[in-house]
Amino acid sequence: MTLDRPSKVVLSTRNPHKVDEIHAILTDLNISLLSLASFPSAPDVIEDADSLEGNAAKKSQELFVFTGLPTVADDTGLEVFSLNGAPGVHSARFAGPESKDAANRLRLLGELASMDDRRAQFRTVIAFTTEKGTRLFEGVCKGHITFEERGEGGFGYDSLFVPNGFEKTFAEMESNQKNEISHRARALQRFASYLTGLTTEAK
Ligand code: IMP
Repeated sequence: MTLDRPSKVVLSTRNPHKVDEIHAILTDLNISLLSLASFPSAPDVIEDADSLEGNAAKKSQELFVFTGLPTVADDTGLEVFSLNGAPGVHSARFAGPESKDAANRLRLLGELASMDDRRAQFRTVIAFTTEKGTRLFEGVCKGHITFEERGEGGFGYDSLFVPNGFEKTFAEMESNQKNEISHRARALQRFASYLTGLTTEAK
């Protein structure tokens, strides 16, 4: 059995940057993207799963139930090798429940202060829920953590992360350069390839 390519997809985000990034990658597919701005009474999904996969699936499934439309949600984490994958699913709250990006970066530098092994990766999981169920798409960007912050651009842990094959941190790169190699872009490319392969013929 095949699934028709949807004409509308709901994005589980209110972040206009994410909407733009997803729009740029899916632009040739002729799909209308609706962000949560189109659904003001959509429930706030609590991200309490213990994995990126669990949170992404939970968000897309709860929103699918609310909207009745195919729904995409993503969750991203920074996984540091010598910290056994931490902060991972807890990346947004690494320094405490209400912590801000700067405090999270400070904690990361503190945890790695005496560590020579600074390998890390960003990992994004995208969940796509339709009436047929949920599919997951993963994107990984490998690199290492610097000893101090570098760069003014980006957000989150960008000023501490140098992707493999580059000298600059994500925060020192132009945003279009980051968006070509990022974890989120790679997951989105896989999702876009999947959508491209969906038939639009009758089942
Ligand atoms: P979210 O799942 O996109 O909300 O990301 C969770 C947390 O991971 C954010 O609060 C950031 O701290 C971090 N994060 C996600 N994506 C990036 C990125 O591209 N660069 C740096 N940090 C990121």
